[in-house]
Amino acid sequence: MLLDSSFTAPQVTAPAIPKPRVLYDACPLCSAPSNSTLRTEDCSQHPLYKPVVGPIMTWMRCAACEHVFTDGYFSGEVCAEVFSSTNPGQLPGASFEQNRHVSARIVERVAQYVADGRWLDVGLGNGLVAAHRLLREDGVIFASMPSYDCAAWRLLDAGNANPYWGELEHFHNFSRQRL
Ligand SMILES: [Zn+2]
Repeated sequence: MLLDSSFTAPQVTAPAIPKPRVLYDACPLCSAPSNSTLRTEDCSQHPLYKPVVGPIMTWMRCAACEHVFTDGYFSGEVCAEVFSSTNPGQLPGASFEQNRHVSARIVERVAQYVADGRWLDVGLGNGLVAAHRLLREDGVIFASMPSYDCAAWRLLDAGNANPYWGELEHFHNFSRQRL
């Protein structure tokens, strides 16, 4: 067969093969080895989902401290791919005017403990370690995250509509008490 010189072969790429999570061999908070599977969830509909991640997340519960966590975390390679994009609502300054009423309540609360200083907004997880390192001696950490020990969480669970079980970027779910 003769092909026109302008013919360009279509690009064929192999489908990405999910890379396994780096499994925890014990509770990541208290190091107890006895953990049981709490539930599984499909994360493939998450807006940041990439096929390099397995579509099923497995959530564990620690028998000793009741911490809830995924069975493993992403390798550096998988993290780089997952975090190569960001949800528009998570970009700095996103909808700041619409969220002013939420921010105002946070500022009001923190101002009860410190009169002045700089603000540093970080994601939890590894960001919490960096925040602790950078915190001045009389500094304050304001932590905001979903809590699995509240009526709203239970209501979402009862309706089988709890998005936090499929939250691709989360390896932990905390209650206020466990935090
Ligand atoms: Zn534990």
